[in-house]
Amino acid sequence: MTAQHETPLSFSIMQIIARIPLLILALQAGLALAEAPEVDPELERQLDDYITDFSAPEDERAETLESIVEALSADTPAATRLRALGYQMVDFLHEEDEAAALARSQELLNLAKASGHTDIQAEALAFRIDLLWRLDDREEAMMYVPRLEAILPSVQAPRVRYYGHNLTARLLRAHSQYEEALSHFLEAYDAVQETDDDRTQPRRQFLNYNIAQMQAELNNHDQALEIVQRGIREIRELEYRVYLPEFFLLKGYIFAQMEEHEDSIQAHEEAIEWAERLERPDIIITSLNNIGSARIQMEDYTAATEILERALEMALEVDDEHTRPLLEFNLAYLAIMQGGGDEAVTVMEAAIEELVAFYSKANMADLLRYVAEAYREAGHLDRAIETLIEQREMNDELFQSEREESLNELQTRYETREQAAQIELLEQRNELQERTIENSRLQQQITILFIMVVVLSLVLLWLAYRSARRANLRLTAANEQLEYQSVHDVLTGLLNRRSFQEEMQQRGQDGVERRAQTHPDTLLLLDIDFFKKINDRYGHSGGDAVLKELSRRIKAVSRSSDMVIRWGGEELLLLLRNMDPSVQQDYVTRILNTIAEEPIEYRGESIPVTATGGFIQLPFDGVPEDEIDWERALHIADMALYIGKTHGRNRAIGVLGLNQPYEQVKDTLSNDLAQAVEKDLVKHVTIPGPEQGQQ
Ligand code: GH3
Ligand code: MG
Ligand code: MG
Repeated sequence: MTAQHETPLSFSIMQIIARIPLLILALQAGLALAEAPEVDPELERQLDDYITDFSAPEDERAETLESIVEALSADTPAATRLRALGYQMVDFLHEEDEAAALARSQELLNLAKASGHTDIQAEALAFRIDLLWRLDDREEAMMYVPRLEAILPSVQAPRVRYYGHNLTARLLRAHSQYEEALSHFLEAYDAVQETDDDRTQPRRQFLNYNIAQMQAELNNHDQALEIVQRGIREIRELEYRVYLPEFFLLKGYIFAQMEEHEDSIQAHEEAIEWAERLERPDIIITSLNNIGSARIQMEDYTAATEILERALEMALEVDDEHTRPLLEFNLAYLAIMQGGGDEAVTVMEAAIEELVAFYSKANMADLLRYVAEAYREAGHLDRAIETLIEQREMNDELFQSEREESLNELQTRYETREQAAQIELLEQRNELQERTIENSRLQQQITILFIMVVVLSLVLLWLAYRSARRANLRLTAANEQLEYQSVHDVLTGLLNRRSFQEEMQQRGQDGVERRAQTHPDTLLLLDIDFFKKINDRYGHSGGDAVLKELSRRIKAVSRSSDMVIRWGGEELLLLLRNMDPSVQQDYVTRILNTIAEEPIEYRGESIPVTATGGFIQLPFDGVPEDEIDWERALHIADMALYIGKTHGRNRAIGVLGLNQPYEQVKDTLSNDLAQAVEKDLVKHVTIPGPEQGQQ
């Protein structure tokens, strides 16, 4: 069992064909309807979804389709009606209601005829061919092909053109009319290229797959393998996995033909893996068959039998009408090769009978070689020879050199187009890459922009904070200024009358007893002598300069605890806190001296200035302050000052104490100090100012 035991049994192609119409339907979806007949866009969209999404279970999908069909009305455009009803026709077939499917097909043809639109007529014919092929009535299907071919060139919608050409191509290929098949594949290819959406590439892959399949069938292994490898690579990149099991299956088939059995088994195992993921039992069964076939050729009959039996079990389970006879054939072949005898021969013949119905000449020619071998092995030499002759005739028919030449020409055309598509794909990928780069660049820019915005916001925030802080500082300063101004005199910078009044108010609230003070305070009221004259002589600003300088001098000699107040125009009041009576008069002398000792320099002139004052203690000589309060005390000081004025100015008169009980001197003291002095009711003192030169 060497070369003669080759088995051709990896007939995956027909198994694939059996399910291709469904894929074709899937691929129709989403094709642009340029210049196409009128359609219902919403229903078309639903039909697109229906035909592209196989994720839902069969019965659920049937329900979806039914609801679409129910939505059809008399107003629904004929093209949409036809499409929906056509899909339902396929559904009838799934439910094994052949009669309904056939009736529907007729209905579609009538509908198309009534519409008068080429696109609709072409699609109805395609549905018809599709159905007949599904029913394994290939001869009948072929009869419709010329009619479809005649109108396909004038079909407007790429979707319909694609469907028609692809279907025709596959049918012609099944009839071993490779040249015509390839020419239709090319037309389908062009129709696909007319579309430009995210399904264009998957559709192209499906066509490539078909062409690869044809090449494989023609034993052009290298070409077939190249297309398959590229297809697998691209499908993985596109992440559109639907055809991956098919491609691996085909890869395995090609390797089997090349007698690379290990590679073949590996490819088939990959096909099974993907088929399991995508729930494709037909592909699993076919792959198992092909692995079994490889095992036969590797003469591992035990493994082959085991795997083929498992496959047959599955085929019976899912009612796979196409792979089952092949599996039976292979098992019978195995049996014959292991001396199974005539019983196995009968089984084999029954299987062949079934396979003939849908096998292409190329498949059949291959198969017949093994049939002949089986006959020989079983001892039926006459039948073996007959079979070989039959096979020879078939091969002659298949590979006429002339045909091969024109096929080569078509192949070249295909390759040119495929190359163009490859370049386009590459460009698209480059564009995508560029867009990705552009995106990341954009993202980078956005990030930079974002950072800039954040930084800018922070800067603005900081500026706002700073200006708020500055405003606050200014406000605080302004407040402080205001506060200062509210208690200070503008010209002299001394405290003003109000500040003293406030202080005295506070004094009343605190209560003198509560102040921890060893001595009473002293109030000294001063009035500049002949100030009018200064004003008259040196001008108002001269008077101002005098006021300022005097204030400065008095401030300079006063203690920090003292209050120096501008009481009126040129009247100053000093509150000398906690003043020891023993230093009081010296202090007053100091004040008078600081005023009058040095004349005031003003614009190159010396202005001699003296002042007259009156002073008194507060509290006064033990009299409570609610009796002699600050106002009364000040009034007495004022009266003392007046006495000073009338007695020659440049001096201070101090009222030091009472010579009689307060109650008795009260009225005189508060109304007429001069009289009180005269009557000696009070102790008083006169502090002279410094000696003046010429006045
Ligand atoms: P006497 O010795 O009796 O006090 O004489 P006098 O000229 O000082 O008289 P009196 O106290 O009545 O006059 C005060 C004058 O001081 C009146 C007013 O024109 C002047 N005066 C008041 N306020 C200001 C001031 O802010 N600046 C200037 N230059 N003069 C003022
Ligand atoms: Mg005055
Ligand atoms: Mg005066």
